[in-house]
Amino acid sequence: MQPYVVTHWINGQATAGHGDSSAEIRNPATGAVQGHLRLGSVDDLNTAVAAASAAFPAWSALPPLARARVMFRFLDLAQSHRDEIARLIVAEHGKTFPDAVGEVVRGIEMIEFATGIPNLLKGEFTEQIARGIDAWSVRQPLGVVAGITPFNFPAMVPMWMFPLAIACGNTFVLKPSERDPSPSLVMARLLKEAGLPDGVFNVVHGDRTIVDAILAHPQIQAVSFVGSTPVAEHIYTTGCAHGKRVQALGGAKNHMVVMPDADMSAACDALLGAAYGSAGERCMAISVAVAVGSAGDALIERLAPRVRALKIGEGHQQDAEMGPVITAAAKARIEHLIGQGIAEGAQPIVDGRGYRVAGFEDGYFVGATLLDGVTAEMTVYREEIFGPVLCVMRVPDIGAALALVNGHEYGNGVAIFTRDGGTAREFARAVQIGMVGINVPLPVPMAFNSFGGWKRSLFGDHHIYGPEGVRFYTRHKAIMQRWPEGESRGAEFSFPRLG
Ligand code: NAD
Repeated sequence: MQPYVVTHWINGQATAGHGDSSAEIRNPATGAVQGHLRLGSVDDLNTAVAAASAAFPAWSALPPLARARVMFRFLDLAQSHRDEIARLIVAEHGKTFPDAVGEVVRGIEMIEFATGIPNLLKGEFTEQIARGIDAWSVRQPLGVVAGITPFNFPAMVPMWMFPLAIACGNTFVLKPSERDPSPSLVMARLLKEAGLPDGVFNVVHGDRTIVDAILAHPQIQAVSFVGSTPVAEHIYTTGCAHGKRVQALGGAKNHMVVMPDADMSAACDALLGAAYGSAGERCMAISVAVAVGSAGDALIERLAPRVRALKIGEGHQQDAEMGPVITAAAKARIEHLIGQGIAEGAQPIVDGRGYRVAGFEDGYFVGATLLDGVTAEMTVYREEIFGPVLCVMRVPDIGAALALVNGHEYGNGVAIFTRDGGTAREFARAVQIGMVGINVPLPVPMAFNSFGGWKRSLFGDHHIYGPEGVRFYTRHKAIMQRWPEGESRGAEFSFPRLG
């Protein structure tokens, strides 16, 4: 098959742009080049921002219900193209087809939430704050806003951003990951089909050059970023230095604390899915099982045979439970980290290095890996591995578990498995983490709540999507009015005292 070419989407049109370089798009299951991505130039970004700026006055002046109606049509189209988008995700990201469908469905929930924008934008009104004076507050869109997204959810993470940003009345420039850019172009086409005016949604592909141009662009009011922590920190500090509103979500190291009284079979099922689903390439993946007291031996005994038996394959293979990792470099890095963990004293209960899938020998597969006896000093504990590696750590009691979790620099998600309500309640209260699951391994909030981590997992003041998303993509305005009757009361020189 001839490699395809992925273009930008600017002012309602697919366009090759003016960049003079391109990136290869590989299929992670085969290692083969399947497409080429046009990398944009700063001129392309400027053209997209100009189109978004030109579209803003009319789009933001539309009644929220009219914007919601575009979202309703987009919702319909996204639902009917669900499998097409999922197939692109399998081809470019490598996750299994059911997992890719799950990603698209969680993204579609964001459109469902955005259809409620007339309600979400309702302001507050106070009558008669002083004699003859009323006051109210509204939230208004910011202008042109940008999104910069990672490879691991090429449809869902952009949808954490643009449906709500657009429904609020903003116009949008998306810079997707270079690794799996195709779903963003399908979404652009569907938005146009839904009746979105040209210029409201734009896609510009590129690398650091485009990202830095976004951060410095005077007409971009706000930036949403999701990706690794070093880049998130760069986005936050640079974007803020240019006067922008920034939310930058970073990396993670998510723990699951297993108490000795937990339902071990449920805990084991939860760990398998949460650690190895999507080959561990989820920001909410559980990468550390913290076994309290006697839970350690019970867990290892149950986990080891099931980790060995995990079905690894190409994403469309009928029984595949996990696919490859994203690139050859990611595979090499993950395998290196496993080796380092073992060299530093971790026990390899299952070692996934050198894993081969028959018929896909050049794919970037890493076997599911289970390390026991991991300690807080080891590199495999300190660093985000972002691969199918589960570290088991043993601690004597819940206090030690809490201290371990709270001591980590990341604070995205955490889970506790226990049958004791008091233990769970106190853990949820005291843990320094943004999203907490109680007997739920992946506590990813639904679209009508908001998502975000603490500490070095999120830079900025707002979590993403849901009510926090509405606040991020709008600014507050307070209005006070009087309709004077009769004679003017004359100049007042003391600070007005109302009431
Ligand atoms: P990444 O940081 O390498 O890339 C993210 C985006 O930033 C991409 O669009 C990329 O083109 C751009 N980028 C990369 N390097 C850059 C640089 N030096 N300067 C400017 N821009 C740059 O992340 P990734 O590998 O695509 O995604 C995986 C990471 O994302 C993991 O760390 C994962 O935990 C994190 N992630 C976090 C969340 C969350 O909600 N907190 C969600 C998904 C992924």
